[in-house]
Amino acid sequence: MKIGIIGAGQLGRMLALAGYPLGLRFVFLDQSEDAPGAQVGRIIAGAFDDPKGLAELARAVDVVTFDVENVPVDAIREIAAKKTFLPPPAALGASQDRLDEKTLFRKLRIPTPEFQAVDSREDLLAAAGRIGLPGVLKTRRLGYDGRGQYFLRQRADLDIAWDTLGKVPLIYEGFVDFSREVSIIGVRSTRGEVACYPLSANTHAAGILRHSIAPYRSAGLQRQAEGYLKRLFKHFDYAGVLTIEFFVKRGRLIANEMAPRVHNSGHWTIEGAATSQFDNHIRAILGLPLGSTRPIGHSAMVNFIGEIPSAASILKIPGVHFHSYGKEPRPNRKLGHCTIVSGSAAARDKALRQLLQRRDR
Ligand code: AMP
Repeated sequence: MKIGIIGAGQLGRMLALAGYPLGLRFVFLDQSEDAPGAQVGRIIAGAFDDPKGLAELARAVDVVTFDVENVPVDAIREIAAKKTFLPPPAALGASQDRLDEKTLFRKLRIPTPEFQAVDSREDLLAAAGRIGLPGVLKTRRLGYDGRGQYFLRQRADLDIAWDTLGKVPLIYEGFVDFSREVSIIGVRSTRGEVACYPLSANTHAAGILRHSIAPYRSAGLQRQAEGYLKRLFKHFDYAGVLTIEFFVKRGRLIANEMAPRVHNSGHWTIEGAATSQFDNHIRAILGLPLGSTRPIGHSAMVNFIGEIPSAASILKIPGVHFHSYGKEPRPNRKLGHCTIVSGSAAARDKALRQLLQRRDR
């Protein structure tokens, strides 16, 4: 059985690594022939919307999935009509536009920050007037890892924000004064089996995930998050892994965004859960029984961004697992991560502090 993955980034690479024990083979579509997936599978060279490349990928495999969100939905409709394509294109489409995504959340009664579409300077004035300052102006499409965002604190910021981002459709959101950010990762198989991982608590800087700890235990928040995830599963008749990122404010979850794919905040599941998010995504899209999402300790995951230490300097720390994606270092690029799994939350937190304070950073 062959799986096709649109995008050969680190997520695709980790999907393939999880799929090999099941006897699967992997083919990727990616513009870059030395993307991380090339280490573990064949790459068909082409853009994500290249009809020839997409058709070649579909011909070469039994099931198609993706590791990136910016795959144009129109480009994949043709292959999705002929080949099993999961998660469903509709979920991919909703996740690509922050306005559509938040409108859907609202329809499914999943709480969001206040928001309003902005297509002109006047719209921005009106949105900031209604929702108030501070706020965040974001591009509706193609924003990720903090790109395409402008935080507005005072009225004087309105013009700069508009001049910086105003060339494309935008959304204005009220600023959420959150106490923490968490994400839920769940999985639904083509047979309708559902499993959810425990919440992870995530720390971002400049819009990029820096580190996560899991399980983040809060029975109330876990219940809310699983309920919201299940509404989305049902809405899309979903199969595969789905992630929702939330702000926590006064014991309530406020949804920031969803990702219809495996997620950086779930990398801890490789060593820290009975079955990883990557393994479960593959099982889900093939209709295989899902594996247990039970955590097997207390995990922390730290991203290596822009630069990556040597394997030797990380592996000398007892109990740490090191992952390098084999990418060329570039500012703000995710190059690898490491995970620690400890017997207690206190031991995990201590090890995380040591990792973050390393002198070779
Ligand atoms: P995003 O690209 O929407 O995932 O945003 C990246 C990060 O910016 C989030 O993880 C938050 O730390 C911050 N952020 C985004 N939107 C808001 C908001 N409405 N209120 C407060 N912080 C936000």
